[in-house]
Amino acid sequence: MSKRIDYLIVGQGIAGTLLAWFLEKAGQSFMIIDNDFADSSTNIAAGIINPITGRRFVKSWMIGDLLPFAKKTYEEIQDYLELPVYKEMEIIRYFQSNVEGNNWITKTSYEEYEQYLSSKKLEQDLSTIINNSGGYGIVHGAKVDLRILIKYYQLHYQSKGQLQIDTFDHSALQVDEDKVIYKSIEAKKVIFCEGYSACRNPWFKHLPYESAKGEVLLIKIPNFKTPYIIKKNQFLVPVGEDVYWFGSNYEWEDLTNTPTPSGRAYLEERLADILKVDYEVLDHMAAVRPVLKDRRPALGLHPEHDAIAILNGMGTKGTSIAPYWADRLVRFLLGEEGLNGEVDVRRFAYG
Ligand SMILES: Cc1cc2nc3c(=O)[nH]c(=O)nc-3n(C[C@H](O)[C@H](O)[C@H](O)COP(=O)(O)OP(=O)(O)OC[C@H]3O[C@@H](n4cnc5c(N)ncnc54)[C@H](O)[C@@H]3O)c2cc1C
Repeated sequence: MSKRIDYLIVGQGIAGTLLAWFLEKAGQSFMIIDNDFADSSTNIAAGIINPITGRRFVKSWMIGDLLPFAKKTYEEIQDYLELPVYKEMEIIRYFQSNVEGNNWITKTSYEEYEQYLSSKKLEQDLSTIINNSGGYGIVHGAKVDLRILIKYYQLHYQSKGQLQIDTFDHSALQVDEDKVIYKSIEAKKVIFCEGYSACRNPWFKHLPYESAKGEVLLIKIPNFKTPYIIKKNQFLVPVGEDVYWFGSNYEWEDLTNTPTPSGRAYLEERLADILKVDYEVLDHMAAVRPVLKDRRPALGLHPEHDAIAILNGMGTKGTSIAPYWADRLVRFLLGEEGLNGEVDVRRFAYG
């Protein structure tokens, strides 16, 4: 006998997890199938929410809508879990040149940037630890502990019988006009949240992927504690007792999850440029970010099958953007609102 539900979600990274959160809030029934891949993009990410990007310090796309929504969502989840997963943090941006320093001064004079930037003096003196010749500015950011969030929800949905740890077999999916059948599950729709692996999904391999591998070092800097995220090209992010996440680079050819000697050499070179003190490498990891050519997410219904949907293309900023777009997708699926053409997966030619 088959189990009948509203939605079948494939993939429990940050996209699938938040989708489940909003579906649950909307009273919808669902099952998740996830293969528990330790090196998924979500598991390797630092979880930084950074409203300002690039050397010109430009506000990220739609950040005025995305950031407050992300904050509200993670704080609600945090209250529900009774686990500290969301933390506002200052990002110290060290300038690499006079041009950058001047760009910063210009941006801090704009009223619309006031809530994101600050030029105040740091409370902690970092000068014995960090190489800094060019000055710095402060960006008001945040960090989400994605690993804890994902792990908690994995256990939570498993205990409720709503999560199967398995690899989804696309060839076993039967697609009808108004439903899908997968083994013993019958659902109104399947929603694929497979991250980078969607490039192998027979219904969505036509999307213009430009996914990018990133390598990361987990390092220990003895006797160094700081409340700040430090950015000087790469990010140095405190994750626990003297332990820091350091990354990352961008690689578009080798889309494996294998850390490489050249990736490590690159990161260690960057570390030598930032740190004045010794460190110990604890781990070296790699994952692939699900990026689309136009750098926008992709959500909504398959161009030919209304029973198939997707939430993907979280790119380099899944932590900031997934809450808003997961919520928008749920509202769309429930017929409450339309989809912004800029993110609708149907913007890509199919067939
Ligand atoms: C090095 C690095 C650093 C990053 N740092 C940040 C950061 O600081 N801030 C930020 O916002 N973003 C960051 N990102 C980007 C961020 O990780 C992504 O935007 C986001 O995590 C993507 O989430 P997702 O759920 O779409 O995909 P994923 O995290 O890839 O999740 C997809 C899930 O689906 C599962 N899956 C796939 N196919 C199948 C199948 N057939 N059957 C079963 N399960 C399947 C996968 O195993 C995985 O669990 C970083 C990425 C990298 C690589």
